[in-house]
Amino acid sequence: MGTKIHVSASTNTLIIGGGIIGVSIASMLTDRDVMILDSGEPRFGTSIGNAGHVVVSHAQPFAAPGMIAMGAKSLLHADGAFAFSAHLPLQTASWIASFMRSCTKGNVEKFTPGILSLLRTSAELIHSSGVTTTSTPTWEVFTSQKATEQAQVEAEHLSHLGISSLLINRSEALEQEPSLTPKVKAVVELGEDFGLDPRELWQRLRAANPDLVFHSNELVTAIAPSKGGYLLTTTSGMQITAENIVIAAGSWSREVGKLLGIKIPLIAAKGYSVTVPMHKGTNSLHPMIFADEKTATDPLGDHLRMSARFELTHPNDRSIKEKRVRQLYERAATVLNLPLIPKDLAELSPWTGLRPASADGAPYIGPVPDLPGVYLATGHGLIGTALSLGTADLISRYIGHRPVTPAELALSPRRFIH
Ligand SMILES: Cc1cc2nc3c(=O)[nH]c(=O)nc-3n(C[C@H](O)[C@H](O)[C@H](O)COP(=O)(O)OP(=O)(O)OC[C@H]3O[C@@H](n4cnc5c(N)ncnc54)[C@H](O)[C@@H]3O)c2cc1C
Repeated sequence: MGTKIHVSASTNTLIIGGGIIGVSIASMLTDRDVMILDSGEPRFGTSIGNAGHVVVSHAQPFAAPGMIAMGAKSLLHADGAFAFSAHLPLQTASWIASFMRSCTKGNVEKFTPGILSLLRTSAELIHSSGVTTTSTPTWEVFTSQKATEQAQVEAEHLSHLGISSLLINRSEALEQEPSLTPKVKAVVELGEDFGLDPRELWQRLRAANPDLVFHSNELVTAIAPSKGGYLLTTTSGMQITAENIVIAAGSWSREVGKLLGIKIPLIAAKGYSVTVPMHKGTNSLHPMIFADEKTATDPLGDHLRMSARFELTHPNDRSIKEKRVRQLYERAATVLNLPLIPKDLAELSPWTGLRPASADGAPYIGPVPDLPGVYLATGHGLIGTALSLGTADLISRYIGHRPVTPAELALSPRRFIH
């Protein structure tokens, strides 16, 4: 048995989790001592390996009317975009019940203004961070029989939200984007959306606060109130006191919440990606969302990343099924000119990551009632990269006692912790 090392330290703000949300928050708190503890480097790299879409167009919470029907339809097909894994955690049934109850117009009206405002702040701050972004906006591509109507409805929906978009017909789309196959029927250009390499964004934001102390491979196992703040203990025996704690622990935030007696309604949703070299003559220029195939693609320099699937699972399940990798590539290949799938699937660099999915489809951002100095910044689901710096801006205003709008207040954990 090894001897435990006890390191004592103190900091003003301790962030639990060094994924994109944690490093974004640290990047904005340059006026105080900040420390990040992460149980990996970060663990599983969800914030580094994702599709890198910055989607102002996704301002509507994930729980919305129509989602129950879409989910049920998908679950009836073994190969659907939404699925359950064989490793479901105990809270799955209650999460599903809450999610279903939230698929209402009221839920959409409650959260959309706050999410939209944070997405716009994020997009602006990401642009000014100096990270490389795609020079062309994102395209939403439709391929079904009803493609033209679907595209029209989407453009109207975005216009209702005040988000710019442009309808592009099939022949224009095929001319402008050589990577598309004739299966495309209609396209909506999402005027405020773009793509980036999530690894580059994470690295930049991690380096943005030169005084940040980042401890990798430190799992927080206990949190106790202590004089003027909290005392945190990690698996290696580190003991740290902090005035403020921010829980930005992604898919593990529920477990961290338990250390403080908070019940955070959250589940992990596994997604797959593959990353391949771009091929001459079929270079993809735009980040794309294939609405009917439920697949997203992002050009990353000389590579192309494709991602899909939303599989409810345990937060330690990163298993990769060959069948899913094959399906992801083959689905994308119906809309994109891609080479034949290689015999050795390792050539596709298959990867899985875990989205922290909240029970009402909106992120949990704000102070925890009755626990002064404790903040949540989690539950970002499908759009954590897109919401990163908007979340950080909001948390920095809460910690600095600066104004917060009513739309942003709607995102606070007060909605489930009374
Ligand atoms: C396939 C796929 C594609 C995606 N595409 C996009 C996209 O195009 N655009 C977009 O905006 N989003 C996308 N996402 C979603 C995005 O990746 C997530 O929302 C985001 O990464 C969540 O970031 P996070 O910082 O909250 O969590 P994480 O990156 O998971 O970080 C949480 C960290 O907390 C740490 N931690 C947990 N428990 C403890 C503990 N007890 N002590 C210390 N540390 C702890 C973990 O080690 C981990 O590193 C995608 C996700 C997937 C899976």
